[in-house]
Order: sequence, then structure tokens, then C-alpha cells
Amino acid sequence: MPRRIVVGTQRKHKDPKRILILGGGFGGIYVLRYLTKSLHHSQNLEITLVSDENFFLFSPLLHEVAAAGLEPRHIALPVRGLLRPDKFTFIQASVQKINLGDRTVLTTAGTLDFDYLVLALGSVRDMSGLRLEGGNVFTLKTLTDGIQIRNHIISVFEQASVERNSERQKQLLTFVVSGGGYIGVQLVTSLRDFIFKDLVKCYKTINRNNIRIILVEIAPKIVSPLHTKFRAYIMRNLQCSGIEVRLKSRVTHAYPDHVTIHGSEVVTTSTLIWVAGILSNPQIAQVNARMDNIGRVKVNEYLELLDFPNFYAVGDCAHFKDPKSGLPIPPKAHTGVRQAKIAAHNILADIQGREKRPYIYSNPFDIVPLGPSKGVFGFHSLRLYGLPARFFWMVGYAALIPRTYNRARILGDWLLSLIFGRDMTFVK
Ligand SMILES: Cc1cc2nc3c(=O)[nH]c(=O)nc-3n(C[C@H](O)[C@H](O)[C@H](O)COP(=O)(O)OP(=O)(O)OC[C@H]3O[C@@H](n4cnc5c(N)ncnc54)[C@H](O)[C@@H]3O)c2cc1C
Repeated sequence: MPRRIVVGTQRKHKDPKRILILGGGFGGIYVLRYLTKSLHHSQNLEITLVSDENFFLFSPLLHEVAAAGLEPRHIALPVRGLLRPDKFTFIQASVQKINLGDRTVLTTAGTLDFDYLVLALGSVRDMSGLRLEGGNVFTLKTLTDGIQIRNHIISVFEQASVERNSERQKQLLTFVVSGGGYIGVQLVTSLRDFIFKDLVKCYKTINRNNIRIILVEIAPKIVSPLHTKFRAYIMRNLQCSGIEVRLKSRVTHAYPDHVTIHGSEVVTTSTLIWVAGILSNPQIAQVNARMDNIGRVKVNEYLELLDFPNFYAVGDCAHFKDPKSGLPIPPKAHTGVRQAKIAAHNILADIQGREKRPYIYSNPFDIVPLGPSKGVFGFHSLRLYGLPARFFWMVGYAALIPRTYNRARILGDWLLSLIFGRDMTFVK
């Protein structure tokens, strides 16, 4: 029998309203942030956040960890250091079962009860279209993923540098990225810079003509949501720098020394990185509520689960249909943050007898970095290319990092790697 966790042992009041937030990513941390901001000492609330990591990961910069542009710890912000610890309880544990009917959540640390629930467990990669035939596939979702990709790239360069067989060297130096959306494009451009600006200078025995970076996209265009002009600019940037872009193509099988495209075309490689498609977190997919075909719970305009008022879902695990387009909104960090504000407001509104506020989706920005001095940036009808776009990206993302210490470390990493190059130590 799992033990029941009683939080808030130094309670000031009897029978507080218990708000339970599951997940310490963009959705969860910002719900916590907005709730604690508006919390007065007189309020009888008990706020608990459960997450399997004790840090908040700033995932929009994860591709830079994979390509050695940033130190891993600099994009990981400790939950307990982000907000005043006396205003909430943090439990590092894995969520195992969410029971909406009896208002309990089973975690690896025990069982928790709640009055208000926020689901913010995010998403996982959808690899259902890929058959693993003994091959290894990397994903880019967690900090560990970023560290593993970085180490793997350095390790294939070490192996390739002593490889006399040209075919084998080519195989080691071919990098296949599956998924030509925002993440795939950011990743291939970061890899390109790491490889061609830093690694090839130090691995003198490597023939740079043996290096291939291939971006494989199932759709007829990369980063489909972007404006046509942006897509054309990105395509030119990728192709001019030697990145091969394969449109209307799908990686179907992963073997130890090659992958196949469409089941027949063989590409010899030791590196497949999968950044295509998402599924909701598996714990969410088991919740007894209405969901879509990728396991996200459907929410109404107040972000409450359909049929379950006061139980909210935000971020990647929520299916919110934009009334304007009739389509579910895309999974993005700023969506999670804005939804968090509304969910926090609505929880407090319910407790205080005020009116709830609907969530209104808007996406005025489009921004994609393409290496240290290039990118695209769109704001309504304004479109910027090249260095100005990249500058906006850096300023914008640095401003979004919710802790001065990490912001300073990240700015320092960017500056130092521009001056001295990226670090290529392989730390086990
Ligand atoms: C590499 C990468 C780059 C991206 N770049 C951008 C970008 O440039 N711009 C943009 O807008 N968006 C970007 N995104 C998307 C953005 O990061 C997500 O949309 C956003 O993180 C969603 O927030 P969330 O709170 O729903 O999920 P997450 O931020 O993923 O948080 C989920 C949380 O739940 C925890 N968790 C998961 N399972 C369990 C469990 N069983 N028990 C307990 N805790 C659990 C996780 O540890 C995590 O803390 C990127 C994503 C990735 C992976």
C-alpha cells in the first residue's frame, strides 16, 4: 500500500485548499510562479509541485547543449531556487497514476490528494513510424539527451580520426536528423557550426569531404508553419552550407551501421537523431478523460478538462482547439507560459468566487536561429533576416530565462564560445 504524503506540516490554517501541479516544465513552473505571486499569507492554500527532475529545463536551448555551445547545467534551473520555498512544497518524484475520480495521484514518493489539479507533464517523442533493427536512436527532450548527443558526436570524431578505411570514416561522420520542424532546423545548424567551425580544426586526420549532415522531413517543406519567404531563406542557408535536405522522405529503419529511407534507400551512418512528432506524456494518456489521437487531454476555453471543472491541463499535454482556425494549437514554450497564467488565475478565481478568464491563443512571433550570426524573426508583418534576427533571438531568449545567474552563465557561454570555440571534452 503506497504511503499517503501529507504536505505543509507547518500549516497556519485547518483544511486548506490543496492545489497539486504535476510537471516542472514551462506549464507547471509558470502556474506555480503565478500562483505564488498572488498568494497572501492569509490565504488558506497548499500548493504542491511534483516533478521527476528537481530542475526546470529551458528546452528551447537544448540543441545548443547537444552541439556543445552551452554547458548543460546552465539551462537547468533548480525548482527550489526559482521561487520562495516557503510558499510551496516541491516533491521530486515520478507520477505513476492519476485518479481524477477519487482525487488522488500516485507517485514514487507516495499518494497525494488534491482539490485543484494542474496537468503539465509535457510530451514524449513519437517514434511509432521507426523500426529499430538493432540501431541506436537519439532523441532531444531531456538534459541527458543533450549531453548524450554531444558526447556521441565527439566520440565518433575520435573514432573517425584513427579510421583508415574511407567508407567506415564516412559512416562515422554521417549525421541523420529526422524531423525538419523548428527543432530539427535549429539542431542541424548548431551541429554544422560545431563540426565545421570547431571539430574539424582539431581532428586533422579527418577528411572534411567525408562529413554529411542530412535533414529528413516527411512533409514537402521544412518548418511548415513559417512564412514562405522564411522557409526559402532557411532552405538556402542549409543547402549553401552543405546540409542535405530530404523532403517528402521518411526514415523507416535504424540498423547499427545504417538507416533506411522509405524502407529501401540505405544511408550508412552511426548517428540518427529523432526530433519528429510528439505524443502526450504516457501518464496523461491513461487519465480517464476525453483526449485526442496523440493522448493529449481536451480542455475547454478556461483550460479545464472537459467534464472535470477545476482540473486543468496546460502546455504540450493539453489539446486546446483554437476557435479561429478550428485546429489544435502547436506545442510551444510560450503557449505553456500563457496558459499557465490563465490556469493560475482561474484556480484563484474559483477559490475567491471571482469570474474565470478564457484563454485566447495568439502567436505573433516566429523566430528560428541558424547558427551564431543568422536567423529569421517575424513579428506580425515585420520580417528580419540574418544577424538582426539572430540578435533578437539572443536578447529574447536571454530575457525569458527566469533566473539572473543562469542568464549570465548562458550569455557567458555564448560569448566565450564565439571567442575561443566550443568545448570538445568527452566527459563520461
Ligand atoms: C529541443 C527542444 C527545443 C524547443 N525549442 C522551442 C522553441 O524554440 N520555442 C518554443 O516555443 N518551444 C520550443 N520547444 C517546445 C517547448 O519546450 C515545449 O512546448 C514546452 O516545454 C512545453 O511545456 P510543458 O510544461 O508542457 O512540458 P515540459 O516543459 O516538457 O515539462 C514537462 C515536465 O514534466 C516532468 N515529467 C514528465 N513526466 C513525468 C512524470 N511521470 N512524473 C513527474 N514528472 C514528469 C518533466 O521532467 C518536466 O519537468 C522545444 C522543445 C524541445 C524539446
